[in-house]
Amino acid sequence: MKYASVIINISHEKVDRPFCYRIPESLQEMVKIGSCVEVPFGQGNTLRKGYIIEEREKPDYPENKIKEIYGLADGTFVESKLIRLAAWIKREYGSTMISALQTVLPAKKKVKEKQARTIVGLLPVKELEEHLEQCEKKHQVAKARLIRELISSPQLPYTGAVERLHLSAQTLKSLEKSGVIAVRIRTDYRNPVVLAPGDEKKNVLSQGQKYIVDSIYQDYQKQDYKTYLIHGITGSGKTTVYLELIERVVAQGRSAIVLIPEIALTFQTMMRFQQRFGEKVSILNSTLSQGEKYDQCERAKKGEISVIIGPRSALFTPFKDVGLIVIDEEHEASYKSETTPRYHAREVAGELARLHGASLVLGSATPSLESYYKAKTGEYGFFTLKERLTGGTLPQVYLEDLREELRRGNRSIFSDRLRQLIQDRLEKKEQIMLFLNRRGYAGFISCRSCGEVMKCPHCDVSLSRHVGGILSCHYCGYEEPERKTCPKCGSPYLMGFKAGTQKIEEQFRREFGEVGILRMDKDTTTKKGSYEKILSSFMEGEAQVLIGTQMIVKGHDFPGVTLVGILAADISLGVNDYRASERTFQLLTQAAGRAGRGSLPGEVVIQSYQPEHYSIVKAAAQDYEGFFEEELLYRKLGGYPPTACLLQIQILAAEENSGRSLGLQIRKLLDKMAGSEGLVCIGPANASISRISDIYRFSLLLKHGNKEVLIRARNRVEEWLETCGEKKNIVQFDFNPMQAF
Ligand code: ADP
Ligand code: ZN
Ligand code: ZN
Repeated sequence: MKYASVIINISHEKVDRPFCYRIPESLQEMVKIGSCVEVPFGQGNTLRKGYIIEEREKPDYPENKIKEIYGLADGTFVESKLIRLAAWIKREYGSTMISALQTVLPAKKKVKEKQARTIVGLLPVKELEEHLEQCEKKHQVAKARLIRELISSPQLPYTGAVERLHLSAQTLKSLEKSGVIAVRIRTDYRNPVVLAPGDEKKNVLSQGQKYIVDSIYQDYQKQDYKTYLIHGITGSGKTTVYLELIERVVAQGRSAIVLIPEIALTFQTMMRFQQRFGEKVSILNSTLSQGEKYDQCERAKKGEISVIIGPRSALFTPFKDVGLIVIDEEHEASYKSETTPRYHAREVAGELARLHGASLVLGSATPSLESYYKAKTGEYGFFTLKERLTGGTLPQVYLEDLREELRRGNRSIFSDRLRQLIQDRLEKKEQIMLFLNRRGYAGFISCRSCGEVMKCPHCDVSLSRHVGGILSCHYCGYEEPERKTCPKCGSPYLMGFKAGTQKIEEQFRREFGEVGILRMDKDTTTKKGSYEKILSSFMEGEAQVLIGTQMIVKGHDFPGVTLVGILAADISLGVNDYRASERTFQLLTQAAGRAGRGSLPGEVVIQSYQPEHYSIVKAAAQDYEGFFEEELLYRKLGGYPPTACLLQIQILAAEENSGRSLGLQIRKLLDKMAGSEGLVCIGPANASISRISDIYRFSLLLKHGNKEVLIRARNRVEEWLETCGEKKNIVQFDFNPMQAF
């Protein structure tokens, strides 16, 4: 390699301005992507530091004007690893180096953030109480007012507290001087409570927990950095294991990254990390502004924090030396990016761990099939935690057949059993959660008499209804006209699922009268903070019933809930997606786990049109292993992950014909490859949503046991698109897609 693209100013906004330099003979062996080099820059040729982001054979600039790299810069640079990670992302997922860099580098926003201040209590409660006593003796009433407040909440918003408690600047100064309080720049959400480390009441690890911690740590000390899966239901002690491992890694001066789906990042979780790590931990979430996020990155770079908690982007926190990465709820779809580059956090974490020399720990109550498969086949270390440590018993689960209800003349959305149990809870004044799985909205059709779902004859996926009454298959392009009667039993009661939460609320009121009901779905949670508000008012018992979509099944504990109703369990099975069964199983297991968290035992009613489906049967029995075995069989037969790898080529076109013909050309190109490589190629077919805002969507699906073959295929298509100068249509690549396109 003779030339290199170098970026001088390594910030998110400037990465689109790389400059081309010649690599001198003497450096050829030493430089690589990510290397920090000194280069002559500008008219005066002053030496500047820059990073190599790409190596190239040919310059993009007249040869005689090209300058030469001066030398390697001294030292190690946080950015080098991130740039290497970007190069890996580009290679794996296909995008430009620029967009890969923009993914991994923190975005700096110029706007100065408004800074709010907080008053923080610096002493433990006991000492505060002593201070309070003294102040009261001396009639220092203003001081006493503040200390009293601090005893119940160690951090107060500055302005609010000053006004409410009538505090003078003098009062605050004097307390600051004597070390009782500090006034800090706002960190209220990311550091909700600043507690000294060690304030947490540490549990003695159970035998199971100790075994896991010791095993992982032993490998770690031997610098045998591996990936582990911990399979354990909510409350089985996984977070405690993470905390213990993080503590050991941090004690050695290394850092830890913890990924948690945003929706599950509750106040309690944050508190636990803060209590263990004090100011060494920071939290990233969507309530932080760009500026605040950038601040966190700066703090990480300076070594002020050693633990970061956040969604998938927290992986790119610029720590010098990462020793441990944890991904909790590793099965969550939100770990996959839905914009280019479409990376999966689990895979990127694997590469990051390799770059740093770090262990990677995955945890879940319902692991993804991919991870469980790797755990079973020995690629990952594998641990199980079986018992719930928080007490409470596993709920009693009833499976109700909605076809049977219909036969008996019950047209309501509530089965007889669910109706009875609702009555019972309403009388006892206990709380009820009703869960509606909304993923089925895409419009699959099923028979209300026999449960038959209209399926493609060539694939085990349901057909979706398209405009004009055509049913089509997303995977093979098969089409048929919509039917008037069920092909299996002849019943005219065919329906697409459309019942929303609002309709359920109406029906509930009609059948059970006036009851306090909260509703949680996309419509009721658009306003900022409304999600938390609904949850906390339900928690405080302001309503007896919570009706919601999958939002309500994650993360939060409601000890008052003794009945969970899952209104139509199979809706997500109808989605034309090979992950439908897995998703159904995960959602049902999570939803069922919501009942009986407190001291009262719980009951769960799962209503279904196909209660014999294995994902429903196994979820009702809380039998992950059984589900896994059965699902794996289907995946093997169909050539889906985890036993094979998929690549979806997505085409977006303003003109239908142009998009389709591009798809056909790509298909032809791939067919040449298919024979020699054993590549399976399907399509082009209409995407499951064939048109969005007048853009036509087509997809080609490629299957192969070896991802490298798919990467080669993608490169081939990318090169071909480049040479033929395709400008009219957009082509995207998605490996192992999580969502129907
Ligand atoms: P998970 O992350 O699997 O949901 P947690 O680690 O949060 O589990 O543990 C669930 C609850 O059990 C927490 O309240 C925690 O404090 C408690 N707990 C965890 N480990 C122990 C232990 N060894 N002894 C007693 N209580 C524990
Ligand atoms: Zn039928
Ligand atoms: Zn098909």
